[in-house]
Amino acid sequence: MIECRMRYYSTRNKNESVNFATAALAGLAPDGGLFVPDEIPSLPASAKSSLGSMGFCDIAMETIKPYVKDEIPDNALSDIVGSAFTFDAPFVAVGDRYTAELFHGPTAAFKDFGARFMARSFSYLRRGEDRPLRILVATSGDTGGAVADGFFEVPGIFVTVLYPKGRVSPLQERQIAGLGKNISALAVEGSFDDCQRLVKAALADEDLKKRMSLSSANSINISRLIPQAVYYSAAAGRAFAGLTDPDGSATPRLTNQTSLTGQPSQYAAQTERTRGKGMPVTLCVPSGNFGNLTAGLYAMKMGAPITQFIAATNMNKTVPDYLDSGEYLARDSKATLSNAMDVGAPSNFERMASHFSWDEMKRIILGVYVNDEETKETIARIAKDEGYFLDPHSAVGWKGVDKLRAQNKLQEGTVGILCTAHPAKFSETVEPLAGKVPVPASLSRAMDRTVDAKTIPAEVPALIDFLNEIN
Ligand SMILES: *Cc1c(COP(=O)(O)O)cnc(C)c1O
Repeated sequence: MIECRMRYYSTRNKNESVNFATAALAGLAPDGGLFVPDEIPSLPASAKSSLGSMGFCDIAMETIKPYVKDEIPDNALSDIVGSAFTFDAPFVAVGDRYTAELFHGPTAAFKDFGARFMARSFSYLRRGEDRPLRILVATSGDTGGAVADGFFEVPGIFVTVLYPKGRVSPLQERQIAGLGKNISALAVEGSFDDCQRLVKAALADEDLKKRMSLSSANSINISRLIPQAVYYSAAAGRAFAGLTDPDGSATPRLTNQTSLTGQPSQYAAQTERTRGKGMPVTLCVPSGNFGNLTAGLYAMKMGAPITQFIAATNMNKTVPDYLDSGEYLARDSKATLSNAMDVGAPSNFERMASHFSWDEMKRIILGVYVNDEETKETIARIAKDEGYFLDPHSAVGWKGVDKLRAQNKLQEGTVGILCTAHPAKFSETVEPLAGKVPVPASLSRAMDRTVDAKTIPAEVPALIDFLNEIN
């Protein structure tokens, strides 16, 4: 019999491989490495030539199918994709470039794509299991919201999110602790590190493991990475075909103050343009842990028409420095305005390095870094000049393009910036610089929720007692 499943091996051991289900449900490989596919498949020729006009879910099917073949049949995959990607990801024109807006999902950041797909694929892969799965997540703020929302009302799975009490924003707390049903929240009297320590201890507790199926849903899970390749194919397809999407429901333009309805406009009418049609496509990725950029590299290898990437970081510039020197030096992280990118030792670098040598990376990726002053200046300038609001992470991307252009390092052609969060999520930074930011419906709905969290001390028995009680 021909083995036609995709195999996944650990970045630290290429001799043993597992299938998609095992890699996804385990998260991290037993040796501490990250799971990577043994080959990056190609998109079918028919899809490659029509990416520009395909709907998002059709692109998702073609992109994800080869990674899960024989494990998730097409009809089940189609259900997963259809219920995960229920929002826009428009490629819109802003000034002299384009933005791929990845913040139209329920928590207004790109992590919605990965978290929602991961949750639904877990539920499918565990069908037939009678023991429910309990997922433990420690969060400093943002990831917890995306994971909680991703798993909300997903059958057979319960989630407990641990966050440092009093150290997350009011919006974040409502996103984590306002959902209820299968999502519970623990406000830990301690730091994020305490939350992580508690989760690790519970996951390793033999007694607890006998009584319940426990797992984590960490950011390096391969089932969060693969779905992120989809929006690269969508954006690059549109750029290459010379198409622009209309503004989405949450597009943060000055002129969109009253129309943030939350209703998807799924590519209602694309506009054709001649500028950039058939030209090289450069995509700029504001990066921290480098999962997003790794997914972009997968999309490019699969055949999406991307010529070049820009890895834009804040002052945590480990990867731009590596691209420059060939030497990888992880360091402690520094706090910046674009705090979801405050990573000094990006975990996904191990994945990038398992697929590409330094020479190969240097050929495809331009590194650039941007400081807080430049980030602020960019938010203010783009609001004034273009009537468009950037969040601090997306502003790092915008400024990164400006810097590389000034150094003549960019190829001619279409430049798209992946906008990773909605500016309303960071209004305390953006509004003093740019004025009142329109709030998308998803975020105002979240603000209306009531927080329901149990406070616990930062001690392992307190978490274990809680888990014993609710199960
Ligand atoms: C997580 C995050 C990033 C960084 O993405 P990586 O995949 O970790 O590189 C950038 N912007 C926002 C808003 C994020 O939440």
